[in-house]
Amino acid sequence: MKEYDKLIFELSRPGRKGYELPADRFEIDGLDAIPSELLRRNEPELPEVSELDVVRHYTNLSNKNFGVDTGFYPLGSCTMKYNPKINEELAAMPEFAALHPLQPAETAQGALELYYNLQKALASLAGLEEFTLNPYAGAHGELTGLMVMRQYHISRGDTKRTKVIVPDTAHGTNPASAMVSGLEVVEVKSKPNGSIDVEDLKPLLDDTVAGIMMTNPNTVGMFETEILEIADLVHNAGGLLYYDGANLNPMLGKVRPGDMGFDIMHINLHKTFSTPHGGGGPGSGPVGVAKHLVDLLPNPRVRKAEDGSFYVDTDDKSLGNVSTFFGNFGVMMKAYAYILSLGKEGIKNVGPMATLNANYIKESLKDVYKLPIEGVCKHEFVFDGLADKSTGVTTLNVAKRLLDFGFHAPTIYFPLLFHESMMIEPTETESKETLDEFIDAMRRVAKEAAEDPETVKAAPVTTKISHPDETGAAKNPVLSYRTLKSQQ
Ligand SMILES: *Cc1c(COP(=O)(O)O)cnc(C)c1O
Repeated sequence: MKEYDKLIFELSRPGRKGYELPADRFEIDGLDAIPSELLRRNEPELPEVSELDVVRHYTNLSNKNFGVDTGFYPLGSCTMKYNPKINEELAAMPEFAALHPLQPAETAQGALELYYNLQKALASLAGLEEFTLNPYAGAHGELTGLMVMRQYHISRGDTKRTKVIVPDTAHGTNPASAMVSGLEVVEVKSKPNGSIDVEDLKPLLDDTVAGIMMTNPNTVGMFETEILEIADLVHNAGGLLYYDGANLNPMLGKVRPGDMGFDIMHINLHKTFSTPHGGGGPGSGPVGVAKHLVDLLPNPRVRKAEDGSFYVDTDDKSLGNVSTFFGNFGVMMKAYAYILSLGKEGIKNVGPMATLNANYIKESLKDVYKLPIEGVCKHEFVFDGLADKSTGVTTLNVAKRLLDFGFHAPTIYFPLLFHESMMIEPTETESKETLDEFIDAMRRVAKEAAEDPETVKAAPVTTKISHPDETGAAKNPVLSYRTLKSQQ
């Protein structure tokens, strides 16, 4: 085993140190003030390593990871776009990063102004009245938005409305958020082309319906052309329309959910607005609402006074707090920097470029991969495995083989509409050369599948591990070094 394959605990040697600080400069006064039962009894069990060990350890760890910064990452529904580094630098500015959430508003005017302006910018991109930036992620935004929906009906005394309609193709977080918010999920069917079946929707719309959750483009990347009719139907039945805006990227600057008739939406700043994601880093799921719902948004609120200053406010009609303070502020800074650097004109190119890239890949590969839904897609599309099913090569095999060629796999086996789903989203930040390389690799896999299927099934061969026991890893994960050691 090479040194860099070892865990940091295995590199540890008693007494080895990275740094030693002069003890006389760091004398700790007042240790006596800490109750003795709160003091540590044993030394912390931290690895004892040199600075160089640490540098190599983390550098080598990061090299094992695949990210947007290392290669093409066409993971459908995830919008793995390149995020300009300057936005990271701005978010790290100590003037913002070192603020305390409880310091007086007079001393944090810049941060409050940024919050205020960002929610206004999102409102204008969305065609809605106002946003809260407090929720921490997409699913948290969904929950917040559905709480707004519920609160709206309750505040009108319309307490019968406890059902929310969710398409059978929806992202798994949609029904989950609906359940957590206390609403009951009713499924509406999709047509073979992935769009909502309006005839199936009509009989579901009665006076127990709180609203519908949708996304447009829908889960298979197609624009719901009947959205205006659907909006009328739901509104006439007394319900509200919720827009899952995780897929806002193709719409940026072109189409606004508010104009399509949506009343509430969330946006994933960590997909569309310049925060890297994957691996559980900080996210942000701002929630926007139409005018008649503004009072219900969560506390705290950031408001602008007549003299142009900014202040923190709480609203009695609000549904309450959904986060500590104002959510993940660093993520908001990146989003604001991203919007300002693209500008009103630049942002209009995002959607069309993402859409062009997706259609280019789709058209270049549809002779060798099965395209179940023809026509112009938005930022992503779905193949149903290889066109030739006789080779026995599955979508999982293709995904693994792509790793050998240096590409991250697309999203696989989602949506559930097709048996061999492979959902590809290239994003607007990729060059034609990169798309062509990916197309070549996909064609090469298809050719191998026909000529030498065993090679594809054995993939990946260039990665550190080849075929992990995925079920075992999910059901009995080994998450600590101690557990690992005790099993060896
Ligand atoms: C990613 C995604 C979500 C959930 O967002 P999280 O930030 O992961 O909670 C919801 N809906 C759709 C369509 C998504 O792609």
